[in-house]
Amino acid sequence: MTAPEPRPGLRKVEPYASPQIDVPVRLNTNECPRPLPQAFTDDLVRAIGELTLNRYPDGQMTELREELAARAAHPLEGTWAANGSNEVLDQLLLAYGGIGHKAILFEPTYQLHARLIWLTHTEPIRFKIEPPYTIGAKEVAASVSMRPHVVFTCSPNNPTGNAQPLDAIKRLAEATSALVIVDEAYIEFGGETALPLVADHPNLVVVRTLSKAFAIAGARVGYCLAAPEVVEDLQRVRLPYHMPALSQAAGLTALRHAEEATAILDDIRKERDRIVDALQAIPGMKVFRSDANFVLFVPPKPSKKVWQGLLDRGVLVRDLTTVVPNALRVTAGATEEVDRFLQALSEVLA
Ligand code: PMP
Repeated sequence: MTAPEPRPGLRKVEPYASPQIDVPVRLNTNECPRPLPQAFTDDLVRAIGELTLNRYPDGQMTELREELAARAAHPLEGTWAANGSNEVLDQLLLAYGGIGHKAILFEPTYQLHARLIWLTHTEPIRFKIEPPYTIGAKEVAASVSMRPHVVFTCSPNNPTGNAQPLDAIKRLAEATSALVIVDEAYIEFGGETALPLVADHPNLVVVRTLSKAFAIAGARVGYCLAAPEVVEDLQRVRLPYHMPALSQAAGLTALRHAEEATAILDDIRKERDRIVDALQAIPGMKVFRSDANFVLFVPPKPSKKVWQGLLDRGVLVRDLTTVVPNALRVTAGATEEVDRFLQALSEVLA
């Protein structure tokens, strides 16, 4: 007996994983450093107690979408939710990618975009952009000339941290009829949202998450804001009842506690800027400006050794050497976590 043969190329693909090592200071996945306060948990427990889990959830996610739409001042018909923004991106590619369709990527960017393009049998077209990693007129012209069906942008961009200029996004949306995705997973930390452009550009979709600024990565809630026609297409590719009642309840409760979540955004931005300043003061260190809740840097010593040295001192950062040569990425955590990171780094580099 032999194991079944998967689709061509599958066994060459590594499972997507960010190491979840149990260490005191975890600064590798850009989460919020603190859980939402007890009042959120109490409300969530109450909401879960009222669910009828013997029944399928509301397949239209009505309450959650209404709350998301109201907060964004965007029409309900153009608002959609899924299990994390990753699933929103997957659904967008199921609807607009596929065999014979091309998707543009400006790299370095969030690695999952390329993976989802491959998974959905879409043809990737990769444009390499250089520091400071902004998309300009040249990239817009070159990419639209490839007659794509989907164009990925990410603002602020992961892992580089910079936001994209809004006029580049606007030019992209106007120069092509392709679906232009703006992944705004980190928009609450900085940069200018492309949302105001959506009303006049029905090929533009803004994708966001409650995993970062809203502090519920564990509940898996992402959403998008687009033209109603795009959401109609997503209805055609989604799995029945894709979003659990539990996640819908968590999303709704987190949105109702938005003020507590957003209250700590300033602190996180301060920690981010403190990291940038401290790293800039280290001789030979290369640091990238960030509009997000993380900082990309290239240490003056081999990054694999620096990564291991930090881990040996209880601090986990993200190794991004395969994406940007010799680069590491650190999340702006709580003050004590950033202190420990900077202390550990100075020991490793000493
Ligand atoms: N987009 C970007 C740019 C990200 O960095 C991430 C998380 N690492 C996501 C989307 C996915 O977030 P989630 O699925 O938790 O909403």
